[in-house]
Parts: sequence; C-alpha cells; structure tokens
Amino acid sequence: MSWFFPAMPECNSCGDCCGPVTATATEITAIRGFVEAHGIAWTEHDDPLTCGFYDRAEQKCRIYPVRPAACRMFGVVDEMPCPHFPDAASVSMPIHRAIQLGIMNPEDRLLSESFGGTPGISLEEIQLVGMLTARGRPAHG
Ligand code: SF4
Ligand code: SF4
Repeated sequence: MSWFFPAMPECNSCGDCCGPVTATATEITAIRGFVEAHGIAWTEHDDPLTCGFYDRAEQKCRIYPVRPAACRMFGVVDEMPCPHFPDAASVSMPIHRAIQLGIMNPEDRLLSESFGGTPGISLEEIQLVGMLTARGRPAHG
C-alpha cells in the first residue's frame, strides 16, 4: 500500500509515533514472512506502548520494508500529523476513506496481538481516544 503515500520528508526516525498500530490480515502475513526470514522477534520496551518492532538503540523500524499502512500514513496524512513536523502532512486520508480503499479494515488487530507482545493498550481504548480526538488533530506523543 506504500504507493498511496509519499515518504515523510522530515522524519528523523525518533520513534515517537511507534506506538500501538493496527495491521490488516494481508499485512500481518507479509510481516510474519519478513520476521521469520530475518529472525526478528517482538521486543518489549519499558514503555509498554512502544511498538515491539522499534529498535530504540538503532532508532529504526526493524520491519520497515513491510510496515503497515498505518505507519506509512503517520506524518504524511493530515489526520495523523507528526508531533514534531506537523506541516509535513500533505494528504488527507480520513479513516472512513482508508477503509473504503481497503487500506485499513474494521477487523484489523494490533501488531502486539499477532506477534506475541503484551498490548499496553486495547484496541477499544485506541478507538475511544480516536473518537475523543476526532474533532481536532489527533494527540500523539
Ligand atoms: S514522530 Fe515524526 S519524526 Fe518521529 S518517527 Fe514519527 S514521523 Fe518520524
Ligand atoms: S511497525 Fe515499525 S514503523 Fe510501525 S510502529 Fe512499529 S516500529 Fe514504528
């Protein structure tokens, strides 16, 4: 799905947006193949909300080539602005449009659920936060 979105031009790989993200079944299959081929395991961080595929020491995503659309959208779409470079967002992609296009699906699950991690937050809690922030720009940290 990367062809839907331009690269985030200002990204410094700080990982501040690498929290709990969802993935489609197709994305999970691709990620599973990638991690098996490269011997990558989900890693728990001190901060339970940090994605287990984020390498804090190297400041990089360990599954970058197959990261979910949700990660590709962050900082690029107006609805998911980077907290550090909010002006870098250049494409509008509301969640309902992403679902219409099949980029996301209502039954998507958290990466942590599929790769043996301990979810620091439930999908229901994320959806609640999304509802609470739907009238303004989403809160990130
Ligand atoms: S928070 Fe912004 S700068 Fe940091 S990794 Fe995410 S998109 Fe890049
Ligand atoms: S899959 Fe990669 S880009 Fe996406 S949240 Fe995890 S570490 Fe960040």
